[in-house]
Amino acid sequence: MEEGREGVAVFFCHCDGEVSGMVDVPAVMKYAATLPKVVIAEEHEHLCSKEGIARLKEVLGDAKVDRVVMAACSPRTHGDIFLSALESVGINEYLVEFANLREQCAWVHEDRMEATDKAKDLVRMAVFRAMELEPLEKIKLSIIPSALVIGGGVAGMEAALNIVSKGFNAFLVERGEEIGGRVRKLSTTFPTISCGIPCRHDCPDCEFTPKIEEIYAAGNIEVLTSAEVVEVEGRIGDYKVKVRTGVEEEKELNMGTVIIATGSRTFDPGRIPEYGYEFEDVITSEEIELMYLKSRKGGGGAKLLRPSDGRTPKRVDFIQCVGSRSLKPGSNPYCSITCCLYAIGHARAIKEMYPDTEVYIHYTNIQAPYRGFEEYYNETSSLGIKFVRGAVEKVEEQGGQLFIGYEDADLQRTEETTTELVVLSVGQEPSDGTAKLSEMFRIERDIDDFFMEVNPRVVAEDKTGVFIAGCALGPKNIRYAVADGRAAAENAIRLMEQGFVEVEPVIPEVDEDKCIRCGVCESLCRYGGINVGEEEAAEVIAALCRGCGLCVASCPAKALQMKYYSDDQLRILLKTAFSIPVAEAEHERG
Ligand code: SF4
Ligand code: SF4
Ligand code: SF4
Repeated sequence: MEEGREGVAVFFCHCDGEVSGMVDVPAVMKYAATLPKVVIAEEHEHLCSKEGIARLKEVLGDAKVDRVVMAACSPRTHGDIFLSALESVGINEYLVEFANLREQCAWVHEDRMEATDKAKDLVRMAVFRAMELEPLEKIKLSIIPSALVIGGGVAGMEAALNIVSKGFNAFLVERGEEIGGRVRKLSTTFPTISCGIPCRHDCPDCEFTPKIEEIYAAGNIEVLTSAEVVEVEGRIGDYKVKVRTGVEEEKELNMGTVIIATGSRTFDPGRIPEYGYEFEDVITSEEIELMYLKSRKGGGGAKLLRPSDGRTPKRVDFIQCVGSRSLKPGSNPYCSITCCLYAIGHARAIKEMYPDTEVYIHYTNIQAPYRGFEEYYNETSSLGIKFVRGAVEKVEEQGGQLFIGYEDADLQRTEETTTELVVLSVGQEPSDGTAKLSEMFRIERDIDDFFMEVNPRVVAEDKTGVFIAGCALGPKNIRYAVADGRAAAENAIRLMEQGFVEVEPVIPEVDEDKCIRCGVCESLCRYGGINVGEEEAAEVIAALCRGCGLCVASCPAKALQMKYYSDDQLRILLKTAFSIPVAEAEHERG
């Protein structure tokens, strides 16, 4: 910043009438000009437009101000655009304050005078806070140009191949004995993933075997199977990861970026006793796949045979939403997305192989959300497959005979009948290692325990360099898991190509004289962002701290202050909210 710059510029945006329709912007601007240290008060119809940004730069180009108040919309919407424009004319972004005149004023008032008065309050508070701010610099961290991909399913394979296609090294760590993931256990994929060869089956073999071969053929992917991440240290751009590769063997990797693509596991239907999974002729959708794969390998194509007697069943009942979309204990509240289409695909295949076999699908809603799926479902209804809307109440076996009791909501009755095979459409759950990996990499999990993605609209930056792909984020079909793998790889590549990352300096500052070394801050921090030595005062690890403020609020000695949100910088908002100091306000309250 140039020497001699001091003062505040306030920019007002009409937002094409969104603000000025309710707030008298010229009146607020006139008021702002009377506030101490305000040397510029400017308005524009549409500040975030090309013309608005150009005007902003033009006004500030020669101005002797070092601080800016943007009296416009929420910084969540256009904050980044304004900050980069301001930075280009030498304004430190941590000397900028926003007065949200749109969401927090114009949009929530119905009276123009009240809205205008409130806008004056917001602008006054912002100007005084701007005067309290201190310039800060982003923290620059280097990125090691290699990526660790955890999980060798379709998403992980796609991610690894994309990473190496840009010339970076990748390590692919797979817990199972071979890569390929759950797709290897599928005999067919429905309905849109096709290898293009006009054969009857969309065999995953045709689709994914070449990918597996590509992985092994790529010189710069090291594949570690029967391997597991056991320890992680470090920060974005520089992780030291210990991988157990055998009973006694461990390998230490130094990685710049990480992609977690650990997939999901299938729901254990034994947790819902009424569906009778203990009986031999009650199987899961996964077990049908294994049966087909086995019979194919034996020659003569896929065969559906009852496990109890090896006979082709005359009637098959599919039960949908097993373990999904239910608030019952042991089940999950979310839809597993893939199982409807999966069951429909199986039902069609059975009808095609055995036209005399009766096929029923018991469902509450059919979910066919992806392109082409609705048509596939509609077509199925005309093939003689019976869709029964309603809950299945029980599956029982008596005297070697299977019975199914169910509701038919359309006919408003319940039925109990014999059947020969029951197929449970089991849902998906977070894979077994999810909790451990989330702790090691300090990645949040959502309410259903899947990994949670950083939402760029909520969190301005990712401070981990760890990207999640595929079913590790929640149930999804193959096509979307592959797309996820590609997207995660793109994020990792962007970081590695840049070679460094700049992280927020909005972190706590320690007053060493006040720190009593109690360790409260360290024990509360979930990200390893602060350390307290035996003898030394607390120390903030800038690369790990996420600026959540928990330690600041909890420090018993008041030894921590959050940069950009220090007590003084927040107190000034209260002091100026009503134009009277806090002490007086407290006195008045008694
Ligand atoms: S996809 Fe279908 S079967 Fe699976 S949970 Fe959702 S609604 Fe139920
Ligand atoms: S909580 Fe406060 S006083 Fe205690 S160690 Fe941390 S910074 Fe020091
Ligand atoms: S601000 Fe949050 S993330 Fe940073 S050290 Fe304190 S508790 Fe940890």
